[in-house]
Amino acid sequence: MQKRKIAILGSTGSIGTQALEVIEANPDSFEVEILTAQNNADLLIEQSIKFNPNCVVITNESLYDKVVTALAHTDVKVYAGMKAVEEVVQMDSVDIVLTSMVGYAGLLPTIKAIEASKHIALANKETLVVAGEIITKLAQEKGVNIYPVDSEHSAIFQCLVGEFHNPIEKIILTASGGPFRGKQRADLEQVTKAQALKHPNWVMGAKITIDSASLMNKGLEVIEAKWLFGVQASQIEVVVHPQSIVHSLVQFQDGSMKAQMGLPDMKLPIQFALNFPNRLKSDFPRFDFTKYPSLTFEQPDTKTFRNLQLAFDAMAKGGNLPCIMNAANEIAVEAFLQDKIGFLAMSDFIETCMTKVSFIQKPSIDDYVQTDEETRRFARGLL
Ligand code: MN
Repeated sequence: MQKRKIAILGSTGSIGTQALEVIEANPDSFEVEILTAQNNADLLIEQSIKFNPNCVVITNESLYDKVVTALAHTDVKVYAGMKAVEEVVQMDSVDIVLTSMVGYAGLLPTIKAIEASKHIALANKETLVVAGEIITKLAQEKGVNIYPVDSEHSAIFQCLVGEFHNPIEKIILTASGGPFRGKQRADLEQVTKAQALKHPNWVMGAKITIDSASLMNKGLEVIEAKWLFGVQASQIEVVVHPQSIVHSLVQFQDGSMKAQMGLPDMKLPIQFALNFPNRLKSDFPRFDFTKYPSLTFEQPDTKTFRNLQLAFDAMAKGGNLPCIMNAANEIAVEAFLQDKIGFLAMSDFIETCMTKVSFIQKPSIDDYVQTDEETRRFARGLL
């Protein structure tokens, strides 16, 4: 069997490093073709020496010299800047592009990769939140598959294997509820970033961990699901499942529900996406029923965690509103991590941006780029 050649965008982040663990454990299945990183030059250098990719990109251009010097004794080609990422993803030798960079930055490289007919292992949910309509249409035109890496969407995808001709009645996304599940608004007035960064079940990057605590992550995932699986907003439900064992469910038209289960470990959805349709043998820890005597489910509290409702609103109105919401959220999370804004204030902040930034019903890619810039400018002005 031929090895799949992988480009990892964001190789030094949580998903990127776990993807490299998967690749290292399966040297007969995968080969690293491209690695990119934003600021962590040291880890990028270390990864490059270990995996010997064709080329690497450091997007922070001020770190270019450092990377070049450190890799001078290898034959790894080194580039710098976001434009370089958009170019290298189109290389003939790449089979799959794993998009695991943080936030809006994933959008343009993903579009370039799809235009070059590369299959996508999608870990960057913001891409579909911002421009789901354009991305899914382009992927269809180019015959490109988008394999979800997000654990909930991988779960749904796994439930749909063999069922693609059967219409979905409903998708049920599970949410852990994050570290503040069960808390009231009064309890959340004074929470610190250290508390918000303590996720009960998953170890992830800072941005997504804050998004999980505020339920914005689930909001983004609802919009991601709409585009990935071609369903209407009314067909998507969220249920809080604190144990994070049931990763999500699909309900079919006969009422049957399929769920995908397992211990929370992102390496499983990563390797399922990279090696679809074949499952690879793994030694990941196995689920033990005796350790989980009860799996529980409850309604999400959208009065306390308003971001989830904002995401449903943005999805219902469509156009560039999810793009506005996403940019506002990225600024809000950044501000929260710098102690410039309170935890609950993030929702008001995002809502203000959603009301004030100009709405466009049928945005083009350029409109999205401008909406993102305009929202960031407006949002920074609010701080
Ligand atoms: Mn997820």
